Amino acid sequence: MGISYFLPRTDLLLGAGVLSKLGGETVKIGNAALIVTGKSSMKRLGFLDKTVESLEKAGVSAAVFSGVEPNPTIQNVKDGAELCIEKKCDVVVALGGGSVMDASKAIAIAAGCGEAESIWDFVTGKRQLTEKILPIVVVTSTSGSGSHVTPCLVITNRAANKKAVLSSEFIFPRKSIYDVEIAKHMPQKVTAESGFDVLTHAMEAFTNKQSNPVSDALCLRAVELVADNLEKAFNNGEDLDARTAMAVADTLAGFAISTAVVNAIHPIANTLSGFFPEIAHGQALATLSQAVMKHNIENGSGELVKKYAQIAQALGEKVSGEMGKEDAMLSVKAVGELREKLGLEKGLAELKVPKEKFSEIVDTAMEISGETIKYNPIDVYNKDILVKFFEESQ
Ligand code: NDP
Ligand code: MN
Repeated sequence: MGISYFLPRTDLLLGAGVLSKLGGETVKIGNAALIVTGKSSMKRLGFLDKTVESLEKAGVSAAVFSGVEPNPTIQNVKDGAELCIEKKCDVVVALGGGSVMDASKAIAIAAGCGEAESIWDFVTGKRQLTEKILPIVVVTSTSGSGSHVTPCLVITNRAANKKAVLSSEFIFPRKSIYDVEIAKHMPQKVTAESGFDVLTHAMEAFTNKQSNPVSDALCLRAVELVADNLEKAFNNGEDLDARTAMAVADTLAGFAISTAVVNAIHPIANTLSGFFPEIAHGQALATLSQAVMKHNIENGSGELVKKYAQIAQALGEKVSGEMGKEDAMLSVKAVGELREKLGLEKGLAELKVPKEKFSEIVDTAMEISGETIKYNPIDVYNKDILVKFFEESQ
């Protein structure tokens, strides 16, 4: 059996207080930083000031672009890239969650080629990415999207209702600073949503057509860490051990999706958020996950079914020695229970997604994320099946 595996091209520092090392790391690759951040949390909590301070102390100048929205838009990217070009920045520093990191990656691409409005052409494949991209440094504030170690960005074109992924080896952050003192401040809702994202990355990469023995080991450990720590972090945000364990899980799952990618849950959830940007990524995943898992188990056999049974076991379910379909189905039950505990039990009706929209969402998912859907272990690149997932997720 052959294995394709490449190590992420990212230097990672993870722990309490590592934000102070940002300047020293950044000065190795740039002198003028554009700090990209979200709406208010990082300023309010004092981390924006600490970021500027660390950079300036190391001799790196800092301009600030704020206001990146959850489910970040191509408008956010254009505005940020314009400032980046105007200020002649030579490195982009993200300070925030997956949305900010993804927007920063996109800004680094657009500013790197000197065309602030270019990002959608890269996403749609009209233009090919090259090394002409500014180096990216990320300071992660959620646990998480995995974006701090992945070669991907996810961006929304509001006018077209499309949320799409761009992947390239050139998008790996060069430096990744994961200070759990920042993640500690996530409100419960963000802890739940981003934590569920970690779980979905691990479960999808583990069962994917692209899965391999290296990523499998990362995935199983990530699922165990989520099982042991997400509820703790949710119930007591100050629990630094649980926060650190979730940061590790986020990182392992991020490594895993970098080679083993995701299957059908992510592309349909992303498309859903493209139509309804107010639905957070983690909530969209939670709502749609069980229908896809159930379908994969019902139509799967052998190794795949065993893998879902291993997920059940890693989530703390008592499985029999057989590791057959009954055991595998316990993973669906465990995910349902976790959703309840984390306040992510909402179905599509409660999220105000009308049934009449299902068909259009599925058409769009098949159009813009067909490649990814095809990595699902069972063939679900079929309109009826994908619509069924939405019907079962009400
Ligand atoms: P977001 O980055 O969307 O952040 C959600 C909210 O949390 C924001 O309102 C933000 O507020 C707030 N927030 C973030 N950190 C903190 C903190 N420490 N304390 C208090 N508030 C905080 O959340 P996620 O990290 O879950 O990112 C989701 C995005 O990542 C999606 O767009 C998804 O598609 C993408 N993603 C990317 C992947 C990749 O490989 N590139 C993989 C999977 C998902 P404020 O704006 O005020 O800062
Ligand atoms: Mn995700």
